[in-house]
Amino acid sequence: MSDKQLQLGEDDAYLALQNAWERALEVLSEHVNKPSFESWIKTARPIAFEDGLVRISTTSRFAKHWIENKHVGLIQEILEEHMGCKIRVRVELVEGEEPVLLSETLPKKPKPQPKSDDEPISLPLNNQYNFENFVVGPTNRLAHACALAIAESPGKTYNPLFVYGGPGLGKTHLMHAIGQQAIISFPGMRVAYVSGEAFTYHYITALREHRTGEFRRKYRSIDLWLVDDIQFLIGKERTEEEFFHTYNAIYDMGKQIVLTSDRAPKDLQLDTRLLSRFECGMIADVAPPDLETRMAILQTKAEYENMSLSNDVILYIAKLITSNVRRLESALIQLHAYASLMKTSVTPTLAEEVLSKHFGEGADPVIDAQKVLLEVSKRFNVDMSDLKGKCRSADIVMPRQIAMYLCRELTDGSLPSIGKALGGRDHSTVLHACKKIEQKLEKDKSLAGTIAELEKLLRGGKS
Ligand code: ADP
Ligand code: MG
Repeated sequence: MSDKQLQLGEDDAYLALQNAWERALEVLSEHVNKPSFESWIKTARPIAFEDGLVRISTTSRFAKHWIENKHVGLIQEILEEHMGCKIRVRVELVEGEEPVLLSETLPKKPKPQPKSDDEPISLPLNNQYNFENFVVGPTNRLAHACALAIAESPGKTYNPLFVYGGPGLGKTHLMHAIGQQAIISFPGMRVAYVSGEAFTYHYITALREHRTGEFRRKYRSIDLWLVDDIQFLIGKERTEEEFFHTYNAIYDMGKQIVLTSDRAPKDLQLDTRLLSRFECGMIADVAPPDLETRMAILQTKAEYENMSLSNDVILYIAKLITSNVRRLESALIQLHAYASLMKTSVTPTLAEEVLSKHFGEGADPVIDAQKVLLEVSKRFNVDMSDLKGKCRSADIVMPRQIAMYLCRELTDGSLPSIGKALGGRDHSTVLHACKKIEQKLEKDKSLAGTIAELEKLLRGGKS
């Protein structure tokens, strides 16, 4: 970002903003998965601070949409806390720095500036997610083998490939690996990696801007379509319909499709026509790795990070964290950071000291307002933007109040910070909502059941 773009009045304010932004990055890096963090958040910059307004620049429309919808509340809260004043945040698009185009992911090279109507549909591929550093074990062997076969001959073996399983078990990693390997083996192949969320966003934007023709043309030119987290389409009827047609068009041309989801096709509440198509191909699940695989993953990761770890330490971590590779990795990174900060070596005792509280499978996951909003939006099929918005219709007001109630129950956030996370409401609104839900809970058993389920889900750390 050039200095010209900074319009900060004083150096001090700029420094304060920079520091606060760095803090926000730290916090967000803990909440957001790595490729998304690297692609969308690290590339964003605070570019100006005037009259309480912080302007954040992003380089793609998707990044702008994604930060606005998911993270702006948290960013605002952290900036306020660190700058000690009230702040509004505006996310802006700076054209011309789109990180990746379809199949131009590798190698990184300077790109011509895309026109605004030439926005690519593929999300960036993270070159750290490749086949070389994917550790294979009994619980992901099938998914890995299918992924590799597809990368070597797209459209010729299993089509579609449907990979499902819980969070943090390598689904996204495999998708990126397939995409990159295919680009290397078949230069010029048009690879598009999208999430269910990105597809929805592209479609809605195309509808709004009367550009569905262009949308369809782009999607129908794909050779290898990687669709991550397809469960996002549940309940979005028009998008699902469009997805169905896109799917058929790509499939009928003999092109390869790979899908992932947090659940098996039979458990996805999507159109049965779509489900039967998924079931025509190969279905592979990924499950939590066994102890040996967890140890191998830790070893690989430690080598990659240049950390030397004794077998005792590796064994300790592998026994402590059993169900999620992402958590395994973050434990390692935190331990490493702690040891370097304290200038001490990593022993099993240190590992226990640093990790047991937060990483034990029984430990409470950190719950924040964003997680609550996400679960509530999924449970009630209401967009996050509606939960934060002004609409007063009953089917939105109720989930919104439940979200406030759950934030109050499960997060450390103050009433004002909860209000802020819900679209800038004041603390009395939050209090009112909590009281309302408490009253209802006394009489309404089914509501009590729903809320208990949500609490369990959030406490269990699944999302
Ligand atoms: P999912 O998409 O299933 O939620 P990800 O693919 O995002 O999970 O994986 C979470 C993290 O764990 C990533 O950093 C990924 O590289 C790592 N990971 C998962 N499985 C493996 C594996 N078998 N070998 C190496 N790293 C893995
Ligand atoms: Mg994923």
